[in-house]
Amino acid sequence: MTELALPWGLAPDGRLVRVATVPSGKACDVVCPGCGGGLVAKKGGIIRHHFAHLAEAGCGGGALESTLHRLGKQLVADNCGLHLPEVVAEVEHWRKPLAKPQAFEAERSEIEAALGPYRCDVMLWAGGYRLAVEITVTHPCTPEKIEAFRAAGVDAVELDLSRLRWDDLGPGAGKLVLRDAPRRWLHNARAEAERASMAAYIARKRAEEAREQARLADEARRVRAEREARHAWHATNAQWLATYGLMLEDRSEPQWMVADRRGSMWRNNLRAAAWFWLGADAAAAWLSTPPPGLPHSVESQPAWPSRQEVQALWVQLYLARPDKEQERAA
Ligand SMILES: [Zn+2]
Repeated sequence: MTELALPWGLAPDGRLVRVATVPSGKACDVVCPGCGGGLVAKKGGIIRHHFAHLAEAGCGGGALESTLHRLGKQLVADNCGLHLPEVVAEVEHWRKPLAKPQAFEAERSEIEAALGPYRCDVMLWAGGYRLAVEITVTHPCTPEKIEAFRAAGVDAVELDLSRLRWDDLGPGAGKLVLRDAPRRWLHNARAEAERASMAAYIARKRAEEAREQARLADEARRVRAEREARHAWHATNAQWLATYGLMLEDRSEPQWMVADRRGSMWRNNLRAAAWFWLGADAAAAWLSTPPPGLPHSVESQPAWPSRQEVQALWVQLYLARPDKEQERAA
């Protein structure tokens, strides 16, 4: 196991200090941010200056994670600001940018500021505006804590330092933490409000669409039912006609029975045919005063018509339909 070379140590006042700013050797008076073990500042002439653990066993663990977390807080608080990510309102695949990534400068900062039952890593104040900064190295912010930010109306941003290594913690660490490391909004009131209004708009549009779909489906059902009724009527009527035609030829029944049955079938059939071809109103008019040229009135049939007469009557009835004007002329 190679000896851990730490670029930062934890001073008694709780701040991380760079090896360049402390006396050499044990006089540096710093401990390991991870295990709390004593460190010695090694500032020789050959290898890069660093802190090393005093104990033979080396580090008890967690030095990098703890350094990153502490350093993140310290740098943001000292700088009193950081670079913020883009503000975007998103609903499903819709995306509305509200503000570009930009630097944020506060007037005051506080490490481990209280927020209800929680503490946020750094709180920044700019006028009446509060911004919480969470540093994540091993664990992302919990949903409960995000809810607390929302409830308190505090915008919050999460700084992800989990990808940084010891080599990143040299003089360029400030720029990495404050500007370049990945960051995301945990809560942004403006994006949230815009998102809500977008969601409401989408829900409204969807409801409208659903209503229109339902209306079209109803319409299609109605048209289908109408068509089916027409087909059913056609089928029934064809059967009636066939039966009637057959009965005209039937000589086996006593004449009065045949006449009676034919009479009622004829009348019913004619009424139905008139209703179907002419519509209810025209059919009523036609049945009460049949136009000249038709062989008979329905109720006063002097003699049962022949099959040819029946067919002729059907053709006339058919052509009496208002939409058959042209065929009639031909
Ligand atoms: Zn250690």
